[in-house]
Amino acid sequence: MVKAVVGANWGDEGKGKITDMMAADADIIVRFQGGANAGHTIVNNYGKFALHTLPSGVFYNHTTSIIGNGVALNIPVLMNEIHSIEEKGVPAPHILVSDRAQIVMPYHILFDQYEEERLGKASFGSTKSGIAPFYSDKYAKVGYQVQELFDEELLKEKVVRTCDQKNVLLEHLYHKPLLKPEDILATLHEYRDMIAPYVCDTSAYLWNAIKENKTILLEGQLGTLKDPDHGIYPMVTSSSTLAPYGCIGAGIPAQELKQVVTVCKAYSSAVGAGAFVSEIFGDEADELRRRGGDGGEFGATTGRPRRMGWFDCVASKYGCRMQGTTDVAFTVVDVLGYLDEIPVCVGYEIDGEVTTDFPVTSKLEKAKPVLKTLPGWKSDIRGIKKYEDLPENCRKYIEFIEKEIGFPITMVSNGPGRDDIIYR
Ligand code: GDP
Repeated sequence: MVKAVVGANWGDEGKGKITDMMAADADIIVRFQGGANAGHTIVNNYGKFALHTLPSGVFYNHTTSIIGNGVALNIPVLMNEIHSIEEKGVPAPHILVSDRAQIVMPYHILFDQYEEERLGKASFGSTKSGIAPFYSDKYAKVGYQVQELFDEELLKEKVVRTCDQKNVLLEHLYHKPLLKPEDILATLHEYRDMIAPYVCDTSAYLWNAIKENKTILLEGQLGTLKDPDHGIYPMVTSSSTLAPYGCIGAGIPAQELKQVVTVCKAYSSAVGAGAFVSEIFGDEADELRRRGGDGGEFGATTGRPRRMGWFDCVASKYGCRMQGTTDVAFTVVDVLGYLDEIPVCVGYEIDGEVTTDFPVTSKLEKAKPVLKTLPGWKSDIRGIKKYEDLPENCRKYIEFIEKEIGFPITMVSNGPGRDDIIYR
């Protein structure tokens, strides 16, 4: 059975925690898109970890972790992550890397920086991990698949072509040092030796696993609103964040995907630029940021403060719909326990009209939030295991949101740990 864990919002919904928890009953966990630009924070018996490339299942002995073909594979980052978790005593994980995954090249990271510099005020707020230049090259058909590392003749010829093309931009657009084919070739040889032990045809591996009735978890990065087609374009990421894309990015038949757990956060947060209708500012935002997540709402990769907002029913309803949600995992509900009243965004007012349908970006920029205020529960709900034991106002908040978004909330997360979960 194939399941996906994906985000309904702008990312940082707590997918890492939900995947880590669901991985207890899974055989294989697959990353299918994105790269080292975002990260998951996971708290478990071994400590606290920020993973960028490895799937969240690496902490179990019984699981295989796969980096699928859809991922932007940064080989040195992957190696560092493997070493860092082994250093903290996690048993050596079983990791497979798709021979069709493409490689983030050092010049992708440079181009990401140079372009953000060039754009200045109009920059995207990129994490400068090379993701946009990487996917541009992939779809311009000038990227490097992992399998190409093992074809020396091809590589030698290809790095020359790469340098010819990239150096035009480096010289004339960015005025930066030029690339040398021999340097790139040497780097690719290092990459080849590092990655060789992990490479295989992961789609064949997954197909066999499906036939053997294994449980496969597809782990998404970011959330619906960062999808390049369905998100807040152009302030999006460069690969699809949607569960159906998980089938492409892992290489499995689409009809095998049976469960989509969409992780939805009890308030909003976002990183980077772009419209954020329910955003809050000042002390109100600072307090939520400080209390949020596990130790505050700061980026797992960059450490930068996240933008904060109230729960957005319009964005989340759309976010769940586009994922093909079967289950909603509603997270960080415990964080809201300090509020007397909790505002929720229930509609967008655009040019004097109120809508509950998530609009295209040009309209989104004009949207003002329509807020409804619900009573808070003013208590700490961590440690509660049964839904009935939650304070009445907390249940009312959850049920109100479930009705607004129109998808069943089957899991409520009330703390960062694996066991902080209430099933409904
Ligand atoms: P991801 O990228 O979607 O996995 O999100 P993050 O890595 O940003 O995770 C969100 C943060 O919230 C992490 O620090 C988690 O440990 C933490 N977290 C996840 N679920 C909960 C929850 O229910 N309550 C609290 N307080 N923290 C949580």
